[in-house]
Amino acid sequence: MTYTLSHWINGTETLSNSKRSGDIYNPATGEKIGKVPFAEQSEVNEAVAAASKAWPSWAAVPPARRARVIFKFKELVEANTGKIAELVTQEHGKVLSDAVGSVTRGLEVVEFACGIPSLLKGDFTEEVGTGIDSFSTRQPLGVVAGITPFNFPAMVPMWMFPLAIACGNTFVLKPSEKDPSTANFLANLMKQAGCPDGVFNVVHGDKVAVDSLIDHPEIAAISFVGSTPIAEYIYTRGTSTGKRIQALGGAKNHAVIMPDADLDMTSDALVGAAYGSAGERCMAVSVAVAVGDKVGDALIESLKPKIEQIKVGPGNDEDSEMGPLVTAEHLKKVKGYVDNGVDEGAKLVLDGRNLNLQGYENGYYIGPCLFDRVTPEMKIYKEEIFGPVLSIVRAPDYDTAVKMVNQHEFGNGTAIFTRDGDAARDFANNINIGMVGVNVPIPVPVAYHSFGGWKRSLFGDHHMHGEEGIRFFTKLKTITSRWPTGIRSGVDLSFPMMS
Ligand code: NAD
Repeated sequence: MTYTLSHWINGTETLSNSKRSGDIYNPATGEKIGKVPFAEQSEVNEAVAAASKAWPSWAAVPPARRARVIFKFKELVEANTGKIAELVTQEHGKVLSDAVGSVTRGLEVVEFACGIPSLLKGDFTEEVGTGIDSFSTRQPLGVVAGITPFNFPAMVPMWMFPLAIACGNTFVLKPSEKDPSTANFLANLMKQAGCPDGVFNVVHGDKVAVDSLIDHPEIAAISFVGSTPIAEYIYTRGTSTGKRIQALGGAKNHAVIMPDADLDMTSDALVGAAYGSAGERCMAVSVAVAVGDKVGDALIESLKPKIEQIKVGPGNDEDSEMGPLVTAEHLKKVKGYVDNGVDEGAKLVLDGRNLNLQGYENGYYIGPCLFDRVTPEMKIYKEEIFGPVLSIVRAPDYDTAVKMVNQHEFGNGTAIFTRDGDAARDFANNINIGMVGVNVPIPVPVAYHSFGGWKRSLFGDHHMHGEEGIRFFTKLKTITSRWPTGIRSGVDLSFPMMS
């Protein structure tokens, strides 16, 4: 039995009229399980029209009442975490425990958004001049859109819409066409939570839908997460039409391993960070920089048996630790990178290319791969692979390791493993990367801090969620007021001054 998804417009499932659609696959088996419509411009316009119509009355709802809707949504997501995780696993492939974890991280942003009355509180200054007060307030932007990637079909949308809606905006989400069903499930929960029709809409599609959103004059801002070329495209095209854009892109996250690191703890951390979710995480560690050859050798020795024990299998099997990749096309791409690495002269210590799972021969599986002696000129070092491939690079000293991290085009996350507080402090201060871990391999900031990389990992000025999220989804207004008191100063043409 296959299913056909609808859009979610104006609080209801809306069948698409589009003649274009995509297939949805179960990556664990390679079976075609559903169809997703690819919206034409007219359908995007319909969703934006619903969001525009809903906006004035939603913006007028007091923040404390908006927070109640978000709070109810939080309870519903909690009650349905298992179901959401199953949907994520079915279409994305990641193992269930990992899917549950990702829903939970999304929920943290929902919890943060429940505090919106305090978060929107402005500043007030009495007597900025005689009889004059000044105050500032943050107001919603209007209709905003979110465009999201395949690798976190629940969490990344939840980074965006709960906060945007809590701030008083209305929202149009365009989720990844590879695993689109979670978005509809979340839309349904928003409706059950009391979200008025038109406040949260989902349109499915490809480039046509995305371009229609970018060019739509009634969209005030776009929050994007995906690969760097598309992030740059969305930023450039969106800002050219005057929109506010935050576009988070790809990554190549380095972990620097110092000679004094606790090697057993470090290799545990690296195995989780490199192979969790089959490496399809923007904060996955894909490069380990060993400082000194001795560290490199010892690291491989410590990593190898741990990696060999990883159980690869379908995401809904409780014994599986690593699931398949998302599509056949992505599997081919990742295997191609491993071939490349071998051709370029890197040493393939563990080769997962020929993994064959009995009963799942058509699934998109690759076992964990480990490369040693990777160098910065190699394609497998320069480009994001987005699969279970860890590259060990050897640096003669700390300064060379830091230089390497700083020179890479991406700047999402990084980590240092050391017992030396001075080295850790120097690293945190001087590394040209947005999110830094000290003995923490995946330093994803919690919801009340903000998530975002530097360099070509983020285009725009605001990071995601936390205070930065509030700033992104609101505009600041400052009001200076005086009430007639009977005191008259007469006409004065000079520039207003404090005196
Ligand atoms: P992607 O860029 O292919 O797709 C992201 C979104 O853009 C999807 O909704 C897709 O439909 C749309 N899109 C794709 N091609 C388009 C085009 N030509 N024109 C307009 N829209 C287009 O990314 P993906 O493969 O879904 O996700 C993986 C990527 O996302 C990786 O590079 C990963 O690092 C990145 N990512 C980054 C973060 C972060 O926070 N920085 C988080 C998660 C994922």
